[in-house]
Amino acid sequence: MTPYVAIHGHFYQPSRENPFTGEMPREPGAAPYHDFNAKITAECYWPNAEAGNFDQISFNAGPTLMSWLSRYQAATYARILQADRNHVQKQGVGNAIAQSVHHTILPLARRRDRITQIKWGVASFLHRFQRQPRGMWLPELAVDLSTLEILSQRGLSFTILSEEQVRGDLRAGAGPYRVRLPGGGYFVVFVRERALSNQLSFDMDWISDGRRWLEAVLNGRQGLTLIALDGETFGHHQRRGVQFLSNILRNDAAPSYTVVTLADYLRTHPPTLEVEVIERTAWSCNHGVARWDSGCGCTPDDSSWKPVLRSALDLLADEIDAIYLYETRRLIRDPWQLVDQYIDVVMGIADAPALIREHASVDLTTGQTLRLARLVQAQVHRQRMFSSCGWFFEKLDRPEPRYIIAQAMCAIQLTRRAMGVDLGPDFRCSLCAARCEESLGSAQVVTAADLYDELAATIMA
Ligand SMILES: [Zn+2]
Repeated sequence: MTPYVAIHGHFYQPSRENPFTGEMPREPGAAPYHDFNAKITAECYWPNAEAGNFDQISFNAGPTLMSWLSRYQAATYARILQADRNHVQKQGVGNAIAQSVHHTILPLARRRDRITQIKWGVASFLHRFQRQPRGMWLPELAVDLSTLEILSQRGLSFTILSEEQVRGDLRAGAGPYRVRLPGGGYFVVFVRERALSNQLSFDMDWISDGRRWLEAVLNGRQGLTLIALDGETFGHHQRRGVQFLSNILRNDAAPSYTVVTLADYLRTHPPTLEVEVIERTAWSCNHGVARWDSGCGCTPDDSSWKPVLRSALDLLADEIDAIYLYETRRLIRDPWQLVDQYIDVVMGIADAPALIREHASVDLTTGQTLRLARLVQAQVHRQRMFSSCGWFFEKLDRPEPRYIIAQAMCAIQLTRRAMGVDLGPDFRCSLCAARCEESLGSAQVVTAADLYDELAATIMA
């Protein structure tokens, strides 16, 4: 029997749009393209879609990326959706899996936020792929049992972890394995092979023929091997990646391995072995989830700005929520259910006033409806403040921390317009203590409050 292999690509871009205008700013580093999304589409998303690679791999495409593709790259968007439909037709199950919506590190988020992130991820998958998702990608593979329990409660049945995140008998290779949930029942986990996945991510240049390389790796193996990596590896990070992937996936007359997708494999190979999840771990940090929280050696230099930025955003989120709950308490039956369903407005398939009226416990005036519309829209930006990319790199003055501060400012503005309360000055004040040397090595210190001021003068103008 030939060994099985699955390649899973995690395709994702954060929201780079100016949250005040919804417009994508020009990014000089992406020239000759307008922005990085356009550049990466040309190098990776479109050529992989055109080559049919999405039809054969297992993949998740982040909702923020899919939203952008649907607006600006309709052909690529349509071809990716088609890949999943083709797979359903051929195998009876799709090869796309969902992703919690904003790439939040779920173990660092409040339980209420995790539920929203996961519900929004399921809803956006359902809207785009027109079917219920079975699996969900956890951003950065950051995991704990309570997150898996929420996935299970939302009707999802499997996820992917890296081998260093589980303990137990891994004799079944990629599995799938069962993980016991604290509240009873099990969740299914596929386990990626770290070294092999990293070899493709970072050392593809050293592999002359991908197919021969994979044949040699899999020779003598049994069961399933899982390679899971950033989808942008294929064409963007690695120039030869598209051709390399096509070559691996090619159908041969006498193949020495069989390419499968996760949902398809699970259908015929239910898990028999149980493993234990090492909680609060992730695939791109060797220190639990410290990279996005207290800071760690994964990013050199001083990362003391990271916990300060996080706690400033946590405080702001508490204040925004308190105002939201205060204003909705006599008007809306279940304020969090309204937030959870508001993703339909974000995706343009529902009308905000109509949705708000549907959730109202009293007849709302036009003024009340408008106020609630602003407050619930503020909840969207408040969710986007926690996109993991804000904490991923070593420096504070990169674009990513700016994206999340801009989202915070947008949530503040909407709250002020709704209620006349300005959370801006206190938030700015709490950003002053997030300090970091400038990227250019000038030894100049920049604070998150400097970024706030710069954004106030540019994107809000
Ligand atoms: Zn780390």
